[in-house]
Amino acid sequence: MGIEVQHIYKSFNNYNALQDVSLKVNDGELIALLGPSGSGKTTLLRIIAGLEVPDLCEESKILFHGKDVAKQRVAERQVGFVFQHYALFKHMSVFENIAFGLKVRPRATRPSKAEIQHRVNELLRLIQLDGFGNRLPSQLSGGQRQRVALARALAIAPKVLLLDEPFGALDAKVRQGLRAWLRRLHEELHMTTILVTHDQEEALEVADKIVVMNQAKIEQVGAPEEVFHRPANEFVMDFLGHVNVFHGRVENGRARLTDIGSKLTWNREAFGNAVYVRPHELEIDRVAGDDGIRGTVRRINLAGTCAKVVVASSSGNEVVAEISFERFHELGLQRGETVFVSAKRARVFTPDYEI
Ligand code: ATP
Repeated sequence: MGIEVQHIYKSFNNYNALQDVSLKVNDGELIALLGPSGSGKTTLLRIIAGLEVPDLCEESKILFHGKDVAKQRVAERQVGFVFQHYALFKHMSVFENIAFGLKVRPRATRPSKAEIQHRVNELLRLIQLDGFGNRLPSQLSGGQRQRVALARALAIAPKVLLLDEPFGALDAKVRQGLRAWLRRLHEELHMTTILVTHDQEEALEVADKIVVMNQAKIEQVGAPEEVFHRPANEFVMDFLGHVNVFHGRVENGRARLTDIGSKLTWNREAFGNAVYVRPHELEIDRVAGDDGIRGTVRRINLAGTCAKVVVASSSGNEVVAEISFERFHELGLQRGETVFVSAKRARVFTPDYEI
């Protein structure tokens, strides 16, 4: 089921948590709301769920499959939730936890005992916990509990799945496993899903589409590769992955960088006051080219998929470059050596120009 919100505003005691937010989620899509703490992600999710009411505004709309649900209560919207803190019923077994939503239905719509049994067993298989039905939540690991929370949300056959930092309380390794699992699960179920996270790696790996939020607004919506490689503005560029920011005057693809007393050139037209370069877009050389940043190797980190070299310019500013191990060994770099850093690619953001 597709979801659309239009012109949503929400303020708490004069503080704007959402300001004219519009978003479309296609049927069967898994989208991630990504942004720093306080940017409005959870508020937007809660408004979609019906747990929070948006400010009164004539233009505001919350549409589920094209139908306005703004006046519908939570239960009527048929959404499944999973929150950061699993909040399973402690005194109930895994089976009872998953069956809960079905058992509390009014008699007329409640499935039979045998149907509930069948559905729960199916879900236990789906979350790869068959045979765990009789355990109590306290007898499960954190990751297993979160999978049970997901099965409990899925038991009522929701039309939409809303996940608010579902793996937030788990350690990095478990999170990674669950991420891949969630992606596989989504490919099997194709349920429209909105995932709130402030973990960019999680969002970029799991989601079909990323919604980058900042200060109550949406900055960009796009596929993971789109927001990462073609950020719409400085905020998205800075928020997703590491970036070197150089300040200075940029004209016609030539940048005079005042903060590091150097210049950079690349072959695209651009005008602006700052240049953004990702670490892998920088090159290191032992000999000076036409331009580039002269500096000293300050740190080398080889614990990763490439060599991370931190170069300090004469003004003390640090530049982070990532080069292949092959190139690193070819250069035979050592700490304290003088090198020259140049840019293969750079971005400048101005209202009218962008490269
Ligand atoms: P986080 O990643 O930290 O959960 P978020 O992006 O989900 O952040 P929200 O929880 O949506 O952000 O909050 C947006 C802003 O609205 C924050 O500044 C928050 O303090 C404020 N806010 C949210 N709920 C309330 C509330 N019930 N009362 C007052 N202020 C609130």
